[in-house]
Amino acid sequence: MKYPLQYLVALSLVDRRQDDLEDEFGDLPEKIKEKKDQYNELESYVKETQKVLDEVRDFILKSKKALEELKSREEKLSKQQFLVRNNKEFDAITREIEFARNEYNRISQELQLTTLKEENLVNVLEKQKQDASEALEELKELERDYELIATNQNEELNEIKAARSKIVEQIDKHTLEVYQRIRHTHKDAIVKVKKNSCTGCFSHIPPQKIIEIRNNLDKLYTCENCGRILYPEDLEIDSEYIL
Ligand SMILES: [Zn+2]
Repeated sequence: MKYPLQYLVALSLVDRRQDDLEDEFGDLPEKIKEKKDQYNELESYVKETQKVLDEVRDFILKSKKALEELKSREEKLSKQQFLVRNNKEFDAITREIEFARNEYNRISQELQLTTLKEENLVNVLEKQKQDASEALEELKELERDYELIATNQNEELNEIKAARSKIVEQIDKHTLEVYQRIRHTHKDAIVKVKKNSCTGCFSHIPPQKIIEIRNNLDKLYTCENCGRILYPEDLEIDSEYIL
């Protein structure tokens, strides 16, 4: 083959094969990303709840300890009350006992509420952990599906890679850049002219331009409507460059 145009056509065929392989993944990559985000979010809920639960449990422990201390303090004060020498001392101890009892009641009530809160948190945490583990299972399944497709494609991808580098060697940098640029918009960056039309967008190509394309195979012509590179229908491509 002597024209870059011919190599571009061969390159396009290889690239389209690769596009088809990528299409086999369908929306899997997107689904995997979404599931990953979902899992991470659920995991962060688990962590948050666990943190609050730890704090609540710490508070419960401290409250129980405080209650024990208040109880023994009250007992101690009650004993002291029998040993007082005057009314003043008696009243002072009575006030202290009163204070200890009030504190005891206050903390008891608080402890009751906090224990309820703990029970709720335990339930919430269990549900959140379950949701996260379900999401993780779903994520693993999606990743397994992905791996399966990737493994099946491995051999073909290697063939494509080899064929591609063999073709690319034959194309000058500028032509390759033009092709790659068009590939951003149109996966089929180079198309046949057939029945006086661009086979990319089906718009009419003037006969004069078709003659020009045929007579100047060393040049690149693009469709004025869609911008794809055009090549004559009967352009020959050596089979050694076709996968
Ligand atoms: Zn076109």
